[in-house]
Amino acid sequence: MTEAADLRAHFLDEVGRRVGDVEIVTGAACATRYRDPFALVPSAGAEAAIRPGSASSVQAIVQIANTFGAALWPISRGENLGYGGAAVSDKCIVLDLMRMNRILEVNVPDGFCLLEPGVSFVELFEHLEAHDIPLWLSVPGYGLGSVVGNALERGVGNSPYGDHAAQICGLEVVLGNGDLIRTGMGALSGSGMWQRQKTALGPRLDELFVQSNLGVVTKMGLWLMPEPEASVVVDVEIEERETLGACIEALASLKRRGLLPDAPVVSNYLTKAALVSRRSDWIDGSTPLDVSAIDRVRKKLGVGWWNAKIRIYGLPTVLEIALHSTLEAMRQLPACTCTVSKWRRGAPKHLAPRGVPSGEGLVNSRWCGSTGAHIDFAWTLPLSGAEVLRNSTEMEKKLFATGLDYHSSFYVRDRHVLNVVQILFDQQDSGMCAAIDALYLSLIADAARDGFGMHRVPLRYRAHAAEMFGFGGHALAQCRERLKQALDPNGVISPTKASSTEKV
Ligand code: ADP
Repeated sequence: MTEAADLRAHFLDEVGRRVGDVEIVTGAACATRYRDPFALVPSAGAEAAIRPGSASSVQAIVQIANTFGAALWPISRGENLGYGGAAVSDKCIVLDLMRMNRILEVNVPDGFCLLEPGVSFVELFEHLEAHDIPLWLSVPGYGLGSVVGNALERGVGNSPYGDHAAQICGLEVVLGNGDLIRTGMGALSGSGMWQRQKTALGPRLDELFVQSNLGVVTKMGLWLMPEPEASVVVDVEIEERETLGACIEALASLKRRGLLPDAPVVSNYLTKAALVSRRSDWIDGSTPLDVSAIDRVRKKLGVGWWNAKIRIYGLPTVLEIALHSTLEAMRQLPACTCTVSKWRRGAPKHLAPRGVPSGEGLVNSRWCGSTGAHIDFAWTLPLSGAEVLRNSTEMEKKLFATGLDYHSSFYVRDRHVLNVVQILFDQQDSGMCAAIDALYLSLIADAARDGFGMHRVPLRYRAHAAEMFGFGGHALAQCRERLKQALDPNGVISPTKASSTEKV
């Protein structure tokens, strides 16, 4: 046994002996479960995992890890697909919080919930349904992961509550040094304000634990959307690739005027095609879809080159005003068709544009066949049609030059555009995997050169993405490192995550 394996075995023994409510997983079961199913480079998977059943168990485990110098990597359900899945860095033992899956509170009048980290979108949705609770969820494309893990990684969905990290209101966290804290009004014992008020006296600390490695989140408060009186969905089918810029400008103008609280999303033809077909249905061999294949896809599936989805929620009279302005703006775009679908409270819920979690989003990973996978490049651009079009064209060229199809969605937010490019590939094509690895690094470098940052990044590239934030001799990274030293002096929590520029 190596020294590291010996230390790990002692640590796990100690956890098993001293912590009441834990499961410990090792061996093949562990390696198979805790890995990235979509990895570009196959890895062995984690060597050990601990599954605690309560916050006090988490605290005890972190305290023991401090005395042993062990490193833990917390995950909530480990379904972070496209960004690393349940893979953790080599040196870490997985701290899997999936057994902690209680829905502690759902408050209907004030629209919030308090969750343990293991609660999945499906579980929360089923709870709301079972109790006929008029609160709607915003769900990510792949809905089988945890609500907490997704918010902590800045996941997105579609509704005015679609920026999931922005809905966090109050956390309970076991810090790296083993202290247990409650943020915001949670620190005021007996206060009923913890999930009602995002700020308390002093700096708001919730953000410290988002895309972070300073602690283990054991409870999270989140705001949920009260069921609206009515809603309208405008689907816009855009014929020409070059109209993307004008479309973004039009949506930006509607956003700036406060008419669209949701972040409208503009996606290309491949979003639909990858859900309902495989690339071999459209083209032979491994070259990217060419102009005629793209044409066939669009005709057969009835989709535009770009397809915008705009959702508006609220009082019917207010909706009509927003709908009128939206249609006026969209109809000025060349060669586009708008379809309007309306829903009113009382009509069947399955017709409402609310978030219903499902695993359907994963189907597109099979675009390249049964060994297909995806890795996501999520970055942000200014709210400018010209910039978005230019970057989309560049990105498409780079993907085509690497032999890849272009699968892209633009979320039009208040002050910037979030672009998620799903790189769909065949895991068995090792040459392609190596090419994507190099491409990913060059895309990060291009983004940094142009002053654009990553929104969310797979574990493999986290350090490269962090390295770009170099102002003042990496003063920001140094500041985060000092925070890390103060809150987790022994580097117990996810040591290679966040500010670290150490490559994994
Ligand atoms: P999901 O359950 O949504 O699939 P994961 O559990 O895979 O998400 O979490 C993604 C990442 O977020 C993890 O690798 C980890 O870095 C971080 N994370 C998730 N849950 C927690 C938590 N409860 N406390 C601290 N960090 C977490």
